[in-house]
Amino acid sequence: MPDYKAILNTIYQEAIKAKDKGIVASYIPELAHVDVTNFGIHLKTYNHGSFSVGDFNKKFSIQSISKALALAEAIELIGDAVWNRVTVEPSGHPFNQLALLEIENGIPRNPLINAGAIVIADILVSNLKNPKQDFLNYVRGLANDNTINYNKAVANSEKITGYKNFAAANLLKSFKNLNNPVDEVLDFYFHQCAIEMTCSQLSDAFFMFSNNGICIQNKQHITDRQVKRINALMLTCGFYDEAGEFAFKVGLPGKSGVGGGIVALLPDKFVITTWAPGLNKKGNSKLGMLALEQFTTQTKQSIF
Ligand code: GLN
Repeated sequence: MPDYKAILNTIYQEAIKAKDKGIVASYIPELAHVDVTNFGIHLKTYNHGSFSVGDFNKKFSIQSISKALALAEAIELIGDAVWNRVTVEPSGHPFNQLALLEIENGIPRNPLINAGAIVIADILVSNLKNPKQDFLNYVRGLANDNTINYNKAVANSEKITGYKNFAAANLLKSFKNLNNPVDEVLDFYFHQCAIEMTCSQLSDAFFMFSNNGICIQNKQHITDRQVKRINALMLTCGFYDEAGEFAFKVGLPGKSGVGGGIVALLPDKFVITTWAPGLNKKGNSKLGMLALEQFTTQTKQSIF
């Protein structure tokens, strides 16, 4: 077993010295207050316990990381019918780009860009009794932690300024790929993005993707085949127009969010979550990507 503790400590010490820590997202005004010097890592291994450094126990806005969890729940609810409404190709464009959606007649490229995630939100709104409460309970169940909650201020902040998401939802509606009212679907979507979690809670919630669909409470949520598919999507689409770069440098399926979190995993081995709120130009955590590149290089553990 690699010396995880020593490796994480070295990576942490190096990372916090970085002069250029990236820029905290400000297009959602509520996120602009977050201190760029926060930095935490949490590693949950299959059978060698957990390791953590820095701000691994502080809550942050999970933002687009939620898209992988929402996708898992949608697949759990309606199975392959999800793929009638969204395809599985990398977009090669920013997460909020709209051009392809119009050219491709309202069928989003994949469920991890905003347009695709809004379709998934629509599926959850249609299939859950109390969508916001039920989705929160789903995430709480995966992480086995009932303290996980929405940050209402973040959800409202995005509702006020989410012009491109309103544009995406309206485009989807015009192409008949949204069954519920735009406002209802976006209210759900802004809330799912506004869930707050710590690095360790995220490692717990994503454990099922490294454990053949069985969560930390030992419940089978999705099948092996469904896990394979979601992990493939995280590898090819989880970082938008930087998915190639992430696969090239880190070599793991993963998902980022503009709150500065990244969760990545190696099936049957580990889940690792980083949080550093400064973003690079593609909207992914700058120090998080550097730390994960170091981690897979130093431990010699990646899917490749
Ligand atoms: N809620 C954000 C948005 O829709 C999520 C984007 C992200 O984390 N990449 O713009």
